[in-house]
Amino acid sequence: MSARESPLATTRSPSEGEARRLRNYVGGNWVEPSCEWLEDANPATGELTGLIPLSGAGDVDGAVAAARAAQPAWRAVAPQRRARAVMALREALWVSRDEIARLVTEDMGKTLDDASGEVLRGIESTEAACAIPHLLKGEGLEGVAAGVDVDLVRQPVGVVGAITPFNFPAMIPLWFLPFAIACGNTFVLKPSERDPRPSERIFELIDGIDEIPAGVCNLVHGAHDAVNGLLDHPDVDAISFVGQATTARYVAERSAATGKRCQALGGAKNSLVVMPDADLKTAVPAIMGSAFGAAGQRCLAGSVAVLVGDRARQDEVREALVSAAASLRIGPGADAETDVCPLVGPDARGRIADALDRAVAAEGEIVLDGRDADPGPAGTILGPTIVEASDPESEVAREELFGPLLTLVRADDLDGALAFANGSRYGNAGSIFTSSGDAARRYRYGMEAGMLGVNIGVAAPVAWFPFSGWKDSLEGDLHANGRDAVEFYTRKKVVTSRWS
Ligand code: NAD
Repeated sequence: MSARESPLATTRSPSEGEARRLRNYVGGNWVEPSCEWLEDANPATGELTGLIPLSGAGDVDGAVAAARAAQPAWRAVAPQRRARAVMALREALWVSRDEIARLVTEDMGKTLDDASGEVLRGIESTEAACAIPHLLKGEGLEGVAAGVDVDLVRQPVGVVGAITPFNFPAMIPLWFLPFAIACGNTFVLKPSERDPRPSERIFELIDGIDEIPAGVCNLVHGAHDAVNGLLDHPDVDAISFVGQATTARYVAERSAATGKRCQALGGAKNSLVVMPDADLKTAVPAIMGSAFGAAGQRCLAGSVAVLVGDRARQDEVREALVSAAASLRIGPGADAETDVCPLVGPDARGRIADALDRAVAAEGEIVLDGRDADPGPAGTILGPTIVEASDPESEVAREELFGPLLTLVRADDLDGALAFANGSRYGNAGSIFTSSGDAARRYRYGMEAGMLGVNIGVAAPVAWFPFSGWKDSLEGDLHANGRDAVEFYTRKKVVTSRWS
């Protein structure tokens, strides 16, 4: 398969630069693999921030062996003590939250405000996992036959491998790690090779927590070889993945080939339905945040606005959206005034610019062209862009382009809006803006997606609820976070006993 952006274009030898080399964390030790290295750059400035090791299957073997060796003793630790270990992680994350947020901004590009929100979301997942003694409790049924009782217990799956994307470099590793270890598993993380410094910092904190023994949490940097090493490894029992839909399908298929349990959360094309009775004073800012926050690089980004009503109302909403988008401030994530941050790399800007050319060829109308904005020192800035798709099946209306790009389509009524939205191969999220309870209820009933918003632009469930989508947005069935996490990271065992 081909990934959307090959990360391997800028490998270099560490001796060529002064930049700090990131290290793997294996069995409680920081280790420097002997391999090729990838440059990590600040998307706002282009400055080199580190060199990332492109670990190979041998490095993965070492991490999995450490995790496997640590698992029996970790499983034997009482659940309430494992909860205390996760609480210690929560405390360390809380103390370091601003520092981690700054690393997210430097490495990924999003605004500091957004990065702080991301870190807080990761801390909330950690807090949710602290309830593990309660969440792990089984069930029982007494007297199913004379003297016979039945008990269900949950046991850890073993070694969990997690593979995470670039767009939430702190939060998504924290969706998985706290729940996985709280359940008694040991853990190997392969973070995105585009911005792994927040993960490295989280592992430095873990290194300082006595309640988390060596080998319970391991970190392996790298790209495709490291991923394949995890997917093929016979000692990895479960894979948690988040990334593009094509990668998710690949990960699910390759995990299945070695009999692994897998949850693979994929991409999205989320629509925002603007009903004729929507209050534009609240809907328009919410849509701006959804479409252009983090430069559209969110799986919950609203990338299509469905304008519902007669032509005059549709035009009114289109005008309001274009005028609000044109006034957004573009700039580096570290600048408190910035609304639209840089993209993760110049390759992403080029990919979206190419898609805009194809949109014009498909008779789409570029209503606001972000290519006019100065691309900035790293060539990563694309201004907010709005395209009206004349063909609702065209690429801009149907494919995830992962940038500050909002596509407009028109629908006469809610049925038409739902028909468009449900025509997507994705089913991650969607929102409706309306003042009608009836419309909201019909939308909730009929919309085919895992996460819905009503008068909310980014409908991200809090960590005590499951987080994921439907259709091509998820391979597998169990979502991240909430009770689904406990279901995914444990195996059920049913014991039928006769004592009299
Ligand atoms: P990606 O699929 O390119 O990369 C994700 C991970 O997979 C990385 O660690 C990468 O090293 C690895 N990978 C990529 N291609 C591979 C290959 N061919 N072989 C082996 N490993 C490979 O995703 P990304 O661009 O980093 O992240 C953005 C994507 O993630 C978007 O599609 C976004 O919608 C999705 N996402 C989904 C959710 C969700 O909850 N569904 C959340 C966040 C992001």
